[in-house]
Amino acid sequence: MGSLDQFAKAKLASLEAGDLRRELKGDRRLEAPWVERGGRRLVSFSCNDYLGLSHHPAVIEAAAQAAREYGAGAGASRLVTGDHPLLGALEARIAAWKGTQAACVFGSGYLANLGITPVFAKPGDLVIVDELSHACLWAGAKLSGATVVALRHNDMGHLDNVLAAARASHAHALVLTDGVFSMDGDLAPLDEVGAICAKHDAWAMVDDAHGLGVVGGGRGSVAVFPGADIALQMGTLSKAAGSYGGYLAASRDVVDLVKNRARSFVYSTGLPPPSAAAALAAFDVMEAEPERVAAPLDNARLFTRLAGLPEAKSAIVPVVLGAPGRALAAAARLEAQGFLVAPIRPPTVPEGTARLRLAFNAGHTPEQVERLAAAARALMTESFAPA
Ligand SMILES: *Cc1c(COP(=O)(O)O)cnc(C)c1O
Repeated sequence: MGSLDQFAKAKLASLEAGDLRRELKGDRRLEAPWVERGGRRLVSFSCNDYLGLSHHPAVIEAAAQAAREYGAGAGASRLVTGDHPLLGALEARIAAWKGTQAACVFGSGYLANLGITPVFAKPGDLVIVDELSHACLWAGAKLSGATVVALRHNDMGHLDNVLAAARASHAHALVLTDGVFSMDGDLAPLDEVGAICAKHDAWAMVDDAHGLGVVGGGRGSVAVFPGADIALQMGTLSKAAGSYGGYLAASRDVVDLVKNRARSFVYSTGLPPPSAAAALAAFDVMEAEPERVAAPLDNARLFTRLAGLPEAKSAIVPVVLGAPGRALAAAARLEAQGFLVAPIRPPTVPEGTARLRLAFNAGHTPEQVERLAAAARALMTESFAPA
C-alpha cells in the first residue's frame, strides 16, 4: 500500500474509533417531508428545504423550461460569457426581497462566504466571528489573512470589548455572524450587532442561510429586528428557496466591488440557468403563500411546546445528547420509528454537544410533529445505551 493510502486509512480508523466517521447514505428525497433511504420511506426532520419548494411543481417547471431555453449550464464565469438573463432578474428579485439596492448571485452559499470576506478584509484588518457561525464564514475569514477573533456566542458585551480594545490598531473591522445559527436555531441579536458595529466603525455581515423564507415573514433574520443596521446580508438559495446558489444583498457600490474582486465570483462558473429559474419561481411562491412561509416556525413551536423545550426561534431545534455515540444511537432509534433525523457530531458542533438537529418544514403534519415530540421526550428522559 502506498503512503497516501496508508495516510487515509489511518485517519479513517481514528475517526471510526471516535464514532466520528461519516458515510453517504444514498437518499432519495420525495415530496416534503418524505425521504427514501434503504428502501424505506421515512418522515424527514433533516432537510433544509423548509418550504418544500425543491419539489414544488411551479419551481420544477421553471427549472425545466430554463434548461430548454438557456441550456443546462452557464458555460463560463459571469464576467466572461456566463451572465445569462436569469441571473440579473434573480439579483433584482433578491435585492427587492431584502430591501437593498443590489444583490450578487454566487455559485453557492459556501462560495459566497469564501469570496466576500476577503474583499473587505486583509492582513492588518480585524475580523470578528461568532464562535458558532457556519464553517464557511470561518473559511472566508481565514482566507482573508486578517486578524481573526472568535466572539463568545451572541455575547454583545464581548463584541463591544473586542472592538474597543482592537479596533484602533486595525485599518478595518468586519463582524460575521449567522442570523439563525445552523446547529442551535437561535437568532443573533442583529439590532445590537448593528449598533455596536456602528459605534466602532465596524462593518457587519449576517449569514441568513436559515433565515430566508422562514423568519421575519420570510424576508430573513434582519427583518426580525426592524431597523437593524447590517450592511452585508448574504445567504443561500439552497435551503428554503429549494434551489442552489448563494447571494449577497447590499448597496450598489458594495455589490459592484464584490463582482470585481470576489475570487469565487470572478473565477467560478455562473449559476446554471435551471437553478436561477427555480430560485426565481421560489420567490414567487414565497410572496404568494404567506401561510406556507409561516408553517415551519409554527411546526417547530408546536414541537418545542410538546417536548417541553424552550420555544423555537426558527425552524431548527437542537436536542443535545452529549457523546457522539449517544447521538448515533438516538438517530437509529428514531429511524426504527420511521423518522429520519441526522445525528450531528463534532467538528460540526463543539465537543461534548453531539445532538439531533431537527429541521421543521411546511410539509409536516401536526400528527407527525406530535409523534416526534413523544419520541424525543423518551430520548431525553430515559438513559439508553449508546450503539
Ligand atoms: C448551508 C449553509 C451555508 C452554505 O450554503 P450552500 O449554498 O449550501 O453552500 C452557509 N452558511 C450557513 C449558515 C449554512 O447553513
